[in-house]
Amino acid sequence: MPAFNIYIPPFCMDESRYIIEELIGEFLGLEFEIETWDNPYYLVEHEGKSIELPADFFQRAETDWLSPETLPTRPLSCWDSRSAKMEILLSAPDVPVIFGRPELTISDSGIKISIDIFGSAFFMLSRYEEAVTSVTDQHGRFSSETSIARQEGFLLRPIVNEYLEILWSCIRQLWPDTARRPREFKTIVSADVDVPYHRINKSLPGMLKRLAGHLVVRKKPQLIPGTILNYIAFKFNVLRFDPLYRDLLWIMDVNEGIGNRVTFYFLSNPTDPQYDGCYKLDEPGIRNLVKEVYRRGHILGLHPGYLTFLNRDKMLKDVTNLQRALEREKIPETVTQSRQHYLRWKTPDTAAILEDVGITIDSSLSYSDHAGFRSGTCYDYNFYDVVARRKLSLKERPLIVMEHCVLDKNCMNLQGRDAISCIQELRRLCRMFRGNFTLLWHNSSFNEEIDKKIYQECIS
Ligand SMILES: [Zn+2]
Repeated sequence: MPAFNIYIPPFCMDESRYIIEELIGEFLGLEFEIETWDNPYYLVEHEGKSIELPADFFQRAETDWLSPETLPTRPLSCWDSRSAKMEILLSAPDVPVIFGRPELTISDSGIKISIDIFGSAFFMLSRYEEAVTSVTDQHGRFSSETSIARQEGFLLRPIVNEYLEILWSCIRQLWPDTARRPREFKTIVSADVDVPYHRINKSLPGMLKRLAGHLVVRKKPQLIPGTILNYIAFKFNVLRFDPLYRDLLWIMDVNEGIGNRVTFYFLSNPTDPQYDGCYKLDEPGIRNLVKEVYRRGHILGLHPGYLTFLNRDKMLKDVTNLQRALEREKIPETVTQSRQHYLRWKTPDTAAILEDVGITIDSSLSYSDHAGFRSGTCYDYNFYDVVARRKLSLKERPLIVMEHCVLDKNCMNLQGRDAISCIQELRRLCRMFRGNFTLLWHNSSFNEEIDKKIYQECIS
């Protein structure tokens, strides 16, 4: 199949190039050549037929980049895909239109899509809206409640994938011989190693308080001998009596049983005494854990500390520390994957810092208060820096589910079957678009037996 010619309008041309490379080049795997022209719309052209697309967002943003006036006009309109009488892979027939108009017309010579697919997809992938607002939660994070996706009710849909499918259906309609890049659905399981063992192991008053808790609060005196044994064993660098440590090993066991490699993100260098972890990488127990993760074929990633998300020096120190720890254990791996502790992230600063210190895959982009598709996609993609206005080499691997978001009463507050259904539905959508279902489950979140059941259902 020869290359498509894609004509782009004279607005935000670097951003236009980037989003066309991501959607058509990377996601669909099609060959194309870009030419600029003076018309205010895009044209995808081949063998005398063409698809016309609007450039509403980039035209609006050309003179007002990152101003609140460039944000979508709410409420959004919805496109009823049934009107197109085409087969399109969508999670629901009504598609929210972030930019553009809800229309699609087909003629003999081509198709006119009035939904601004390129602008809307750019808006979602680059997290443009996060760079426009300064509203954050107490940890400096952009919350789901501030997002267009949550406000307009499409956070649980991979909207960028759906826009891509609309475009793909139009391409297939005009050029039926076109083949897209094959993709495979993957479940990508991870665990942030925040608390590999109980903090009380390092504090006698803390341990005594916990014993009192067993007696008075939990009324389970049978837990007392185990807590004392764990406390004493810890002094001799033996962690296997610690329930949190055992749950890390259990995560490895159950995932190995079904052929999953788990990514374990380690905190490397405490940056904040209140919010960072209780451990250091040179402790014998943690050294053993790092070796165990590697020996069993899992992936070692970095969990940059609480204060790194806006601080390049601290981020670099974290990378260097973990790299040294791997060298000390003669593990021939380079630190290239990370996820921010507390999911602390500022668009685009954190992405630019990560790229600068040599991280190639980040997996932080999920909301800390709600599961779903923060970037609108379940595909890995190159991040775009909307301040420096350049494509980064950093790949973002969107995080779809963090267990805390689903289970916690301050977040989605789902329990038992409801929690399983929600997670399974998100997984089904990732499978439908042959994307990555990326799941984070902390070892500290197996409080009840049901949690392990939910976990096993979600990874298998
Ligand atoms: Zn963490």
